[in-house]
Amino acid sequence: MFDALADRLEAAWKKLRGQDKISQSNIQDALREVRRALLEADVNLQVVKEFISEVEAKAQGAEVIAGVRPDQQFIKIVYDELVQVMGETNVPLVQAQNPPTIVLMAGLQGTGKTTATAKLALHLRKIDRTCLMVATDVYRPAAIEQLVTLGKQIDVPVFEMGSDADPVEIARLGVERGRAEKFDTVIIDTAGRLQIDADMMAELARIKEVVQPHETLLVVDAMTGQEAANLTRTFHEQIGITGAILTKLDGDSRGGAALSVRRISGAPIKFVGVGEKVEALQPFYPDRMASRILGMGDVLTLVEKAQEEFDLADAEKMQEKILAAKFDFTDFLKQLRLLKNMGSLGGILKLIPGMNKLSSDQLQQGETQLKRCEAMINSMTQEERKNPDLLASSPSRRRRIAGGSGYKEADVSKLVSDFQKMRSLMQQMGQGSFPGMPGMFGG
Ligand code: GDP
Repeated sequence: MFDALADRLEAAWKKLRGQDKISQSNIQDALREVRRALLEADVNLQVVKEFISEVEAKAQGAEVIAGVRPDQQFIKIVYDELVQVMGETNVPLVQAQNPPTIVLMAGLQGTGKTTATAKLALHLRKIDRTCLMVATDVYRPAAIEQLVTLGKQIDVPVFEMGSDADPVEIARLGVERGRAEKFDTVIIDTAGRLQIDADMMAELARIKEVVQPHETLLVVDAMTGQEAANLTRTFHEQIGITGAILTKLDGDSRGGAALSVRRISGAPIKFVGVGEKVEALQPFYPDRMASRILGMGDVLTLVEKAQEEFDLADAEKMQEKILAAKFDFTDFLKQLRLLKNMGSLGGILKLIPGMNKLSSDQLQQGETQLKRCEAMINSMTQEERKNPDLLASSPSRRRRIAGGSGYKEADVSKLVSDFQKMRSLMQQMGQGSFPGMPGMFGG
């Protein structure tokens, strides 16, 4: 899911790659891509506009983090903003101080409201909250049967009065039963229509008035995209919602709904439906959803790790050294260890968009190269580490290091010459934030 959005953003990141600063001019392309992607993902236009301007403001004011490329940093900013728009943290279902907790389910027909009612009941049962489900959809007898069947399946009782009774009365008596029999929670399934309709809204409003629910959850089909925004607005204005359940996230959803719902209603998405089965309900986590929408894997973990590991003062010193071509083996070793601290090379590369396509052979090779470099540098004296030229001119030193590290003299020669090439290349590039190591992986 969310493929289109991930591709767009990936394209935007590419434009930023290779640039060493986030600036007003170089993020315009990336912002345009993010904007287009969100619109294509059916996020509400107003939500997109606000989102983009917030991202722009944050990106421009962002401190450049040593050890992190601007495109990665940009991802982090977009991600943080997504998380914020979607509400930061998971908000669990309310539990009333005086049970039963009354939950009113609202939404259009076919969105998965009845299924979500049973899913929620099962979820609560699993955490030892007893449930009574109430069937008020008298317009479709099949809806009542459906809830009764689901109730049997999950061993949760259903209160129903057939299809001749008044929905408001069913809801009232259902809650009364729930209270009398000391259920922890009463979940009221209501009638939906294919479209928003005045009668449906009026009935829902009356039920709400009579049962005074602690939660009014809007069930939103994630596949409805842009429509989700209008739907949320109407329900929120006319009924007032306290939360939402986003269904059918297992399908080919474009994800726009997730963004719009919270922003428009201010009410949190509490759960997501991820399948037809009654077990397929998960708590909604804004951070996970943001990663999923961006399709960026764990690049954020990488940024966070780099933030922790890479001391700014250290980075500046390193940069000065690079510019003066004084970057030596001690510095190099530090960089290697930094890489190691951040996890395996394969692990790190997997976190970087686009790099996850490297074959496991290539990764293995890179990993071996890193170990090999470290072993050889460990066999150098402090003097040799500080002054790589000593090694270039002395075969006997190279032989000694080869012997000490268990490699061949030719390997040491290659390390030294690659290092020198790298050093002059780095000096030319004049960029020291996270020195690449051309040649070092070449074997
Ligand atoms: P209601 O009319 O809103 O009560 O909708 P239903 O609960 O009857 O669900 C409508 C259809 O959507 C049914 O075929 C459900 O199996 C299906 N459905 C509900 N939730 C999900 C979900 O999270 N994922 C998928 N793939 N299908 C779902």
